[in-house]
Amino acid sequence: MSGSGLAEMRTQAERLGFDLPNSILEEILETATDGEASPTATAPTAEGVGHASDDDENALLAVFDDPRVRTDAGPLSGKTLAVKDNIAVADLEMTCGSAAYSVVPSFTAPAVERLLEAGIAVVGKANMEPFAMGPTGEFSDFGHVTNPLDPDRVAGGSSSGSAAAVAAGTVDVALGTDTGGSVRIPSACCGIVGVKPSHRLVPRYGFVDFAPSLDTIGPMTRDVSTAASALAAMAGPDPRDPTSADRSLEFETLDELEDVDGLTVGIPDTPFERASSEVADAVRTISDRLSTLGIKAVPVELDLGDTEAAYLNIGAAEFSWLVSGNGVTRGQGTGYNEALRQAFESAREAGLGEHVARRILPPAFLDMTSGGASYAAAREEGLAFAARLAAAFESVDALVTPTLRVLPPEIETVTTRADLLPILGNTAPFNIAGTPAVTVPVTSIDDVPVSAQAIAPRFEDGRALRVARALERVTD
Ligand code: GLN
Repeated sequence: MSGSGLAEMRTQAERLGFDLPNSILEEILETATDGEASPTATAPTAEGVGHASDDDENALLAVFDDPRVRTDAGPLSGKTLAVKDNIAVADLEMTCGSAAYSVVPSFTAPAVERLLEAGIAVVGKANMEPFAMGPTGEFSDFGHVTNPLDPDRVAGGSSSGSAAAVAAGTVDVALGTDTGGSVRIPSACCGIVGVKPSHRLVPRYGFVDFAPSLDTIGPMTRDVSTAASALAAMAGPDPRDPTSADRSLEFETLDELEDVDGLTVGIPDTPFERASSEVADAVRTISDRLSTLGIKAVPVELDLGDTEAAYLNIGAAEFSWLVSGNGVTRGQGTGYNEALRQAFESAREAGLGEHVARRILPPAFLDMTSGGASYAAAREEGLAFAARLAAAFESVDALVTPTLRVLPPEIETVTTRADLLPILGNTAPFNIAGTPAVTVPVTSIDDVPVSAQAIAPRFEDGRALRVARALERVTD
């Protein structure tokens, strides 16, 4: 271990507010220089503090005494909503799943405002992994979230509480955020539908950024049609998120959602080859059935390359810059709110914790010691993937892949950086490409859910939802 490497790692850690002993910094330094093998995780420390009475999964955090409703005449009237705890809802404490962060916002994020306008009843906030980092749902400072389908398997993360609350039937819709898979991974673990919209389709004002070039807010539901209604309500620009696109989702009645005759869906090689054979075979079997609905499924070449590793680098490097700037984005992002900045500054002063340190310090260290070369290389890898994906979309309308490459993991088995890849390797590349991706449970193996992911070109979210609905129709 080089002494100067450790000194530089300490400088970087201190700059980001982490007060960690040399033994841990040495381990993290090893992760940065070898690319793997150190634990990413520590045992959960705090007890659950969910405040909702009928919440056996520890899925919810702050809740209203009575759900908040604005109108009973909208398309989502009668449905209830939980909001991931990194999205602002006026008058409810927001924690980002971290004991260090706390603010009670005076405003509600536009994504939630639009669901209120559509008639939804807001129940409260959903538990999550600290600052949306972690694919298992085991590391919230407010306690482990239980998978209602099987308590021995993880609920998935980082939108763990959102997925568990929907799967348990506690709410009808939850909002999650997806930077590398955090809507789709827990949805797949808990056997529900989850939508990662096109990047910039849903405004992110009032959301605590993770990696602004990848971040999205999306709905999680028990069926595709409700997800489509929720996304249609949320889509469209808002001036408070200057990155939000001037696009909307043309809805898409249930009849239109089932209009798939003549579509060609690609079955890409590497996302299946890198999956376990049981998962790959199960998703292939379901994809073959799409022909009964008039969809042609054809093999298509798509090399994922090292996009998974590029994601881990891009996500953590962008978050490390946010940390050094107290959550404030310079340039294109959404972190332009003084109350949220103050909360972030206090959190950084208190220390964001070892879980976050282990995740962001290796890329932050490489970024610093390489003068930005490691980030540029990761972006280059990501752009090359986006170009290969665009080429694949010249011959097919959409793609279907396994969402997770493996069955939802058993608890306490995901500990190293290498363990993350089978979980987020098929989801994160589509954050880098900015395309819509919808996960649907399609079958089960020994009572454990297996999910497929429908992907369409950027801003063709309606098409991704139509393919997802087709998958839902041909499920077991
Ligand atoms: N769970 C993945 C991770 O830990 C994705 C994170 C996210 O999308 N917020 O990186």
